[in-house]
Amino acid sequence: MTTRSPDALLRNVAGHTMDVLTLAALVTLASLVIFLVLQASAIPTLAPSMPTINAGLIASTLLLLRQWKKGRDAELAARAGASHLRRRDPVTQLPNTEGFVEALGHQASTQPRVAVVCISLERLRDVYDRLGAGCGDEVLRELSLRLCSALGHTGTVARIGDNTLALFHPSSSEIKLALVGGQIGKLMALPVATPAGEVAVGATIGVNFADLSVTDPREALRQARLACSAARTAGGDLAFFDASLDEAQRLKLDLEIELRQALADGVLRMVYQPQIDERGVTIGVEALMRWPHSTRGAIPPSLFVPLAEAAGLGEALGRYAMDHAFADSVLWPNLKVAINVSPIQLQSPGFITTVRDLLKKHDVKPQGFEFEITEGLLLEAGTTVLGNLEQLRKLGFQIALDDFGTGYSSLSYLGQFPIDKIKIDRSFVTPLGVREDAASIIRAISDLSGAIGVKVLAEGVETRAQLDMLRAEGCNQAQGYFVAPPMARAQILQHFGQVETTVRERRLRAA
Ligand code: C2E
Ligand code: CA
Ligand code: CA
Repeated sequence: MTTRSPDALLRNVAGHTMDVLTLAALVTLASLVIFLVLQASAIPTLAPSMPTINAGLIASTLLLLRQWKKGRDAELAARAGASHLRRRDPVTQLPNTEGFVEALGHQASTQPRVAVVCISLERLRDVYDRLGAGCGDEVLRELSLRLCSALGHTGTVARIGDNTLALFHPSSSEIKLALVGGQIGKLMALPVATPAGEVAVGATIGVNFADLSVTDPREALRQARLACSAARTAGGDLAFFDASLDEAQRLKLDLEIELRQALADGVLRMVYQPQIDERGVTIGVEALMRWPHSTRGAIPPSLFVPLAEAAGLGEALGRYAMDHAFADSVLWPNLKVAINVSPIQLQSPGFITTVRDLLKKHDVKPQGFEFEITEGLLLEAGTTVLGNLEQLRKLGFQIALDDFGTGYSSLSYLGQFPIDKIKIDRSFVTPLGVREDAASIIRAISDLSGAIGVKVLAEGVETRAQLDMLRAEGCNQAQGYFVAPPMARAQILQHFGQVETTVRERRLRAA
């Protein structure tokens, strides 16, 4: 069976109506001409037939009018049907975005204060991917039904995206609707039975309390969507729209455009923070990125790195950092340069090719570099990530596990992955001398790492006392403001000059 789009149906009916009308016009015209000719010629033999001809003319006109009306009715019905189809989601039979906005528009004239709720079904995509479209559709229908029955006749539920439902509910009580938000979350989290077993989808929810007498329905929905993405960004399940979200969103978009430009213009800079061994000798530097913004001041990487990744610039940013770190490394050939690499880069099948290209471009050797990765990446590592890590090591790069202790902190999985070094997070260093267990945690990490042949470096070392305690507990490598802050290329060369002189002087004095 072939299905025709609403537009095709409309075109067909409209064409048919046009044919009928053209025919009607032609017949009426012809009848009129005959009638006038007969009257003008006043043929006596035809005089008695005039009333019959008149009656015939009236009858044919009426017939034509009826035909025309039938055509017009069919056209109107098709138009209504097509418009209905255009406003409905074929899977759930719920209104789609257009239908939802229209329903909100009607609501504005009766009870304009509403809560517009955007519900993003978080793991629905997985269900479609793993269990197929039939199962995904089933789950979606079940979740829609739950919402419809929870809402009763007091609002409208719609499907406004592949994995997104929405509803509005007339109410002026924010507390009541906060409860509704919570209840929706619970309803969406309850498992759904499918032929492949039970699946639980879960949802992120954005609620917007809108007054439709002042806010356009489409805008009210946009604000609910924004609240939903704010909830996701904050790692929560539920968020409410307020004007500051709009402000934050605008800033984010502005920054995204400016970051794209900064990358293209080569405005981003690398700074390098020294790392020392147990003798206090600098053995390496960590390359850290900086964005000196012309009007907003220095923007920290904790802000622009995630922004770049969300904007699809993760790989470009990573390539930029590597390009500059490889180029600068020739200035300090005896130091290992540690480069932060994001999960997005390692998930890319083209990562190794990029690395090889850059090694060639700068004529540098992998043995001079270390890539810093985070724990989370290892836990969720797929075949591409593991393959890329193994290839990096085969090429001669070293791998360090960054921010150790902030994630799942399981030393047991270290042996399973190709890791050369762990970097103990600052949150374990700061409590040294303050919290009793702090030193024993460092001792445990150092002992276990030593046992499996993995080096250990402590990050965020800010005092002499911390450095001494770390060494006493077996952690010999350190990085932090006490050792040296991150510095630009020129400063770091100066720094090495001074350090070398001091070391030489100390050696001379000792001799
Ligand atoms: P990270 O890799 O853990 O880098 C260490 C951060 O700690 C740096 O912050 C550094 O300036 C700061 N730090 C160093 N010593 C001390 C100290 O003694 N005390 C304190 N309180 N902080 C110290 P920064 O440069 O702001 O970088 C923040 C994060 O941004 C980095 O954390 C890293 O995750 C990310 N990042 C920086 N550059 C890059 C890059 O090129 N690529 C990627 N993917 N991420 C980067
Ligand atoms: Ca790092
Ligand atoms: Ca770190």
